[in-house]
Amino acid sequence: MNSQFSIYNELTMNTKEILLKAQKEGYAIGAFNAANIETLKAITLAAKKLNSPIIIEASKGEVDYIGKTQLVDLIKDYRNELNIPIILNLDHSESFEECEEAVNAGFDYIHFDGSKLPYDENLKIAKEIVKMCHAKGIIVEGEMDHIQGSSADHTKEKPDEVLDKTLYTDPKKAKIFVDETGIDTFAAFFGNLHGLYSTEKRLKLDVLEEIRNLLPNTFLSLHGGSGIDNKDIMTAIKIGKIVKININSEMRVAFKNALKRSLNETSEVAIYKITPGAIEEVQKIVEGKIKLFGSENRAS
Ligand SMILES: [Zn+2]
Repeated sequence: MNSQFSIYNELTMNTKEILLKAQKEGYAIGAFNAANIETLKAITLAAKKLNSPIIIEASKGEVDYIGKTQLVDLIKDYRNELNIPIILNLDHSESFEECEEAVNAGFDYIHFDGSKLPYDENLKIAKEIVKMCHAKGIIVEGEMDHIQGSSADHTKEKPDEVLDKTLYTDPKKAKIFVDETGIDTFAAFFGNLHGLYSTEKRLKLDVLEEIRNLLPNTFLSLHGGSGIDNKDIMTAIKIGKIVKININSEMRVAFKNALKRSLNETSEVAIYKITPGAIEEVQKIVEGKIKLFGSENRAS
């Protein structure tokens, strides 16, 4: 095995093998955002309890908050202690420089999101990032059609009031984008808005099926995983062989609500005695997703 490819445990699998196993065996790995040490603890506790592989997501805001090298070291510690596959992913990075910094810090997986850039520029930078990452055995995810919404509480709005269906991924264009850039994972947009809405989000599964048919060997991810109809999620894993599902908003809302309750109910000032309720609520969300995605007992 190429040791440069090895990320979570030099003796077992590398990132690509972890994703290939999911694709072959028909389950998806939850990609959960770690906003702080408490959410990281909740995610890893859930994964260990259910013996599941996981992807830890760190967006620019989260990376700035925790620190790149600190995140890398924390993930290494959790891998060694828990002995389960944990992939560290830079989530929705919009610049080459930021991706390069994450690569140098030791991230395992880079999601370059050039979807807000002119297409040619997105293509050019994605190619450069692929070259840089593949030299070190790092997986690259690319995005072409901006996945709308934001990882927040939008429960005053219905998904259809926000969605612009004309922006859904064109499968033929997706194939050209993947072939030209050489990315490993493609982030498609077919109803999977970021955020939580007043009703469950529904997916346009025929778009996904066409993408899968045109790109049989590419890893596919599903962003905006919070608040999607469970049946649609299961069908997406089945027909689309989705290997990575991003979850953030449900965890954010659960954490905030539980923390608010704890703060209102206690006169305690020792912070570590105030946060366990919030950690527990986030852990419950993560456990539910692991079961839904079918990754329980797939850690080895
Ligand atoms: Zn996303």
